[in-house]
Amino acid sequence: MGVIVENLSKQFGNFQAVKQVNLEIKSGSLVALLGPSGSGKSTLLRLIAGLEVPDTGKIWLTGKDATYQSIQERNIGFVFQHYALFKHMTVKQNIAFGMEIRKAPKAKIKLRVEELLNLVQLSGLGDRFPSQLSGGQRQRVALARALAVEPKVLLLDEPFGALDAKVRKDLRAWLRRLHDEVHVTTVFVTHDQEEAMEISDKIVVMNKGNVEQIGAPAEIYDHPATAFVMSFIGPVN
Ligand code: ADP
Ligand code: MG
Repeated sequence: MGVIVENLSKQFGNFQAVKQVNLEIKSGSLVALLGPSGSGKSTLLRLIAGLEVPDTGKIWLTGKDATYQSIQERNIGFVFQHYALFKHMTVKQNIAFGMEIRKAPKAKIKLRVEELLNLVQLSGLGDRFPSQLSGGQRQRVALARALAVEPKVLLLDEPFGALDAKVRKDLRAWLRRLHDEVHVTTVFVTHDQEEAMEISDKIVVMNKGNVEQIGAPAEIYDHPATAFVMSFIGPVN
């Protein structure tokens, strides 16, 4: 009851960005969409989120046909590469925002914000503004904000891509631990093989809008199914 993608396609002008993709993402798992720039990862993620309308195919979210559901109905948490925190709001206000527009009771919001601050290890920084945080801290706030509304699915598009290598490595390990705690079905987009290997239960390798291979990191590493996967992910790298 996680995410099922059936025969999904998306074209921009004459360019086919996503080509009849089929995927099944198990409930509670963390799956990486891995591929070079331009391979259709972000488009696939945006289709799942409802930010793009598919030309063909269907999307199922937790057992429901979500193909024509609005973004709100899908109840998805989204984090992009570039921080999209509200600059004029504190960390707490940023995290609370989604709950407030859903008219959650104030006491409940307060409690949940504290919980989330703990979860992303930012307790004590709740009254700061985004400009007073490091890049890594901001992405953790973005993640807390995405989790605040208890999404069915968490979609992360190169969330650490803009950060330096050391911070990226730390956050990667941290996200894996967080996922082991929270178990929300997560799709993580990256063009970094090492990142995909380290973080995910399963990897979906994409190339030119096609899915080349789906498998556990070790499976893909040991038994690349195509020449592309071999060159992109194989032991030679
Ligand atoms: P990735 O995330 O793997 O780098 P994208 O899904 O962003 O790949 O893009 C795949 C291709 O689709 C790219 O060549 C990009 O130029 C094209 N594309 C993506 N979105 C649009 C759009 N809104 N309009 C036109 N072309 C697009
Ligand atoms: Mg992208």
